Amino acid sequence: MSKSIAIDGPAGAGKSTIAKMVAKELGFIYVDTGAMYRAMALYMIKNGIDPSESEKISATCQSADITIKYEDGVQVVYLNGENVNGQIRTEAVGNMASASSVNGDVRKKLVELQQKLAQTTDVVMDGRDIGTVVLPGADLKVYLTASSKVRADRRYKELVAKGVDCDFDAIEKDIIDRDYRDMHREISPLKQAEDAILVDSSDMTIEQVAGKILELYKNVTE
Ligand code: C5P
Repeated sequence: MSKSIAIDGPAGAGKSTIAKMVAKELGFIYVDTGAMYRAMALYMIKNGIDPSESEKISATCQSADITIKYEDGVQVVYLNGENVNGQIRTEAVGNMASASSVNGDVRKKLVELQQKLAQTTDVVMDGRDIGTVVLPGADLKVYLTASSKVRADRRYKELVAKGVDCDFDAIEKDIIDRDYRDMHREISPLKQAEDAILVDSSDMTIEQVAGKILELYKNVTE
């Protein structure tokens, strides 16, 4: 049977960076489920759909073919045959993803894809509902969080490093709004699974968090 580590938590907690490091160390595949919701959101934006039009979102998601490939160890998301990795990391797509991911039809389609990937491959999968819904039988479940100030500060520095003009307070507000939507939606809200281990990365370096998760994994598999 394939092995799996589930990492859930709010935006900006460091999930993807850490999941990538852990996956590399263990020789597992890193599955970024947020990228799948982002690709779906991009499709909604391209089709001119408003986040409030839930029936249109349900109908439109049926014609979105999202597939994942690994090229030189990097996850590449294809939307109807087009590599969209370069288009899904914007704030607009992130906000649309947080809105369109409340839709049950969108979730059903993407959860099936995620479960299929984990059936045949050893994975470190990150997202919001991995430990609770996608992989309830994961070998290790981690709920990774950090204070909203710390998360906004990380995002601010990332954007500044890229030369993007941005406002710290607006970023923190965006993070708080996104958390609220993700935690209060009806289907698969973001929450810590009962058997998940809480890791607060506010005062930890990336290496310390990755080391902690590897240690936790060692403990459950020994
Ligand atoms: O993790 P990332 O910020 O890329 O995810 C974008 C959005 O996709 C999240 O705000 C969340 O609403 C949604 N998402 C989700 N379930 C997942 C992964 C992401 O609802 N498993």
